[in-house]
Amino acid sequence: MAKKDYYQILGVKKDAKADDIKKSYRKLARKHHPDVNPNDKAAEDKFKEIQEAYDILSDEKKRKVFDRFGYYADNLDVNSPYGAGASATGGGASNFDFSGFNFEPGGSGSSSSSFRDIFSDLFGGSGGGSRTAREPEPPRAMPKKGKDIEIPLALSFEESVTGLTTNITVNRSEQCSRCQGAGDTGGAIVTCPTCKGTGQVQRQGGRLQFAQTCPDCEGTGRRREPCSVCHGKGVTPKTEQVKVRIPAGVDTGSRVRIPKKGGGGRLGAEPGDLFIITNVGKHKFFTRKGDNIYVTVPITVPEAALGAKIEVPTVEGKAQLKIPAGTESGQKFRLRERGFPSLRNPSLRGDQFIEVQIALPRVISEETKDILRSFEKANAENPRRAMGLE
Ligand SMILES: [Zn+2]
Ligand SMILES: [Zn+2]
Repeated sequence: MAKKDYYQILGVKKDAKADDIKKSYRKLARKHHPDVNPNDKAAEDKFKEIQEAYDILSDEKKRKVFDRFGYYADNLDVNSPYGAGASATGGGASNFDFSGFNFEPGGSGSSSSSFRDIFSDLFGGSGGGSRTAREPEPPRAMPKKGKDIEIPLALSFEESVTGLTTNITVNRSEQCSRCQGAGDTGGAIVTCPTCKGTGQVQRQGGRLQFAQTCPDCEGTGRRREPCSVCHGKGVTPKTEQVKVRIPAGVDTGSRVRIPKKGGGGRLGAEPGDLFIITNVGKHKFFTRKGDNIYVTVPITVPEAALGAKIEVPTVEGKAQLKIPAGTESGQKFRLRERGFPSLRNPSLRGDQFIEVQIALPRVISEETKDILRSFEKANAENPRRAMGLE
């Protein structure tokens, strides 16, 4: 084996400082690393040569031996009187044996610790390059759509009829600007702070508590050092005024979707949606069933008996209703398309139903009583006869 000039291999001068040797080595090792040049025998040989040179020159003692004898062997010592002789008998061959060198995880002992240190420097992370890592990589964050947010909103019966545009304060989130939602910036692999390495987190579901796979490390218990801005969440909180348009016709429990105003997406994915869950207040005299509105309206005895045109309330103001002569208490009338607009088809509307209740006059004077007695005489009838009663 020809003598090698380690200085030449690393492209440094004989008096190069340790830092310069390291710098030059890193540059060359990156270029010729087998991971970068798969199935390239020449690159692999070159890489081994670089490793060999660095192994010697980075070690102060070995470098001294090399400087003195022009090659290195373990049995040589700069202070040994046999040094020169060993050189003569050793044939100049370096006894640096690379045959045992192994790139696989936990490889043979010939891969000295300095190699591992350098790999860490080169490729980042405590495990070094992917082929030298002792443990599997923690999962990489994937683009993920933001979470949907639900916010309740109370509105009056009238507002549910007309619809409403309002600003509401939403505590949402946005993709972290530092890590773009990855949750880390490629730092060292650490124990997952969320689950403290257990891979599981406790969640409250109603009164029950149950364990769930940790979302931040996907149950591996390890992750890259969390981003300092979002603490690994990938999103940062944001309080925002959001303009919401509640369409006419919502009922209690309606879900109004405001697109992309939910939680922030990760790694460029879309934000979630905001859902406004409406809670409609009660009305003094209107009630709602489906898209129809119901109301009970009192009428007088003469209106019921003789017929009348009366005013009735609707959700949009007063309307006229014709009461036919002989109307009974509890009879229902329909006002078409005076109900709620349909949420599914805003051109359709429900109806309003009016139930009339005959109300007796509150104050009955002697004169009125006389009139009622004459009325009874003139119209003798027994409304309970059908029930077999006298
Ligand atoms: Zn975890
Ligand atoms: Zn972040």
